[in-house]
Amino acid sequence: MNTKTLYCILILLLGCLLFSSLSLAAQGPARPIIDMHQHARFKVWLQDNGEPWPRLCFPKPCESLPAMAKEGEDILRITLEMMEKHNIVKAVVSDENMEEVWRWQASAPEKFLAGGGTFNPYETDTLELRRAFEAGKLQVMGEVGAQYAGVAPNAPILEPYFAMAEEFDVPVLIHCEGIGGGGHNFNLEAGHPLLLQEVLYHHPNLRLYVENAGWPFLEEITALLYRFPNVYADLSTITWIIPEQAFYTYLKGLVDNGLGKRLMYGSDQMEWPEAIGIGIERIRAADFLTEEQKRDIFYNNAARFLRLSKEEMTRHRGG
Ligand SMILES: [Zn+2]
Repeated sequence: MNTKTLYCILILLLGCLLFSSLSLAAQGPARPIIDMHQHARFKVWLQDNGEPWPRLCFPKPCESLPAMAKEGEDILRITLEMMEKHNIVKAVVSDENMEEVWRWQASAPEKFLAGGGTFNPYETDTLELRRAFEAGKLQVMGEVGAQYAGVAPNAPILEPYFAMAEEFDVPVLIHCEGIGGGGHNFNLEAGHPLLLQEVLYHHPNLRLYVENAGWPFLEEITALLYRFPNVYADLSTITWIIPEQAFYTYLKGLVDNGLGKRLMYGSDQMEWPEAIGIGIERIRAADFLTEEQKRDIFYNNAARFLRLSKEEMTRHRGG
């Protein structure tokens, strides 16, 4: 190799170095994401053949890839990996078994907000919930999935939950929509978002967010969010459980109706932590959203709704 060739290679190498550092600087600090809807689980559903059930999908018949989590412990491990990969800096985690919720929270205390609610208000001990809020062990009321027990949001039996959320000034996540998993008591009629009106008049200080923005009731959720500025909505299960086009149509409808500042990302990953990546990619790929609208959905709206401090937001943004 003569000196001239060596010189050329050196210049080329220097150029490459300069280019890569410039493009890194252009990317800026990592962009944080808040996941408003996770489930703390340590058990996978098994089919008769012993394999875990593939990720749920609607409407049937439909197919999805085999589940990533092969056993219970995989769910938390893969979820934490996904959170690291996508820079999820905060996540609301809840489920029926509070001990499991706290085990999840203990795995990354600075990231997880613990939620406690009910999937069957005929069985849930509200006194136990109250003690947990009093002890500061819960930061969110929810998921309130009483719809699975056939209970509408304005049923008197749910009154103590909303009163408690207002008293402790914590956000409430409610399942009130036209979609849900198995169980014979699941009541579609109890998923009508306008049933929340009565609750919101009784509890004017409630910080409520509605799962899946009440899918598929676009007109009703729009009316509700226009009327009550304290109500937000998550985009969770619908980012992966319904056909992609159905999700985009709904999301576009919400944004066209001017609700882009009230939508928050969530995964509702349950036993399928891979759903986190799928949902994030779908929102990123939505060509009808501006970059700013995507940032609002991924972080800004949830940060406002959760009332994060300036210091925490600066930390999340890598400052
Ligand atoms: Zn959920």
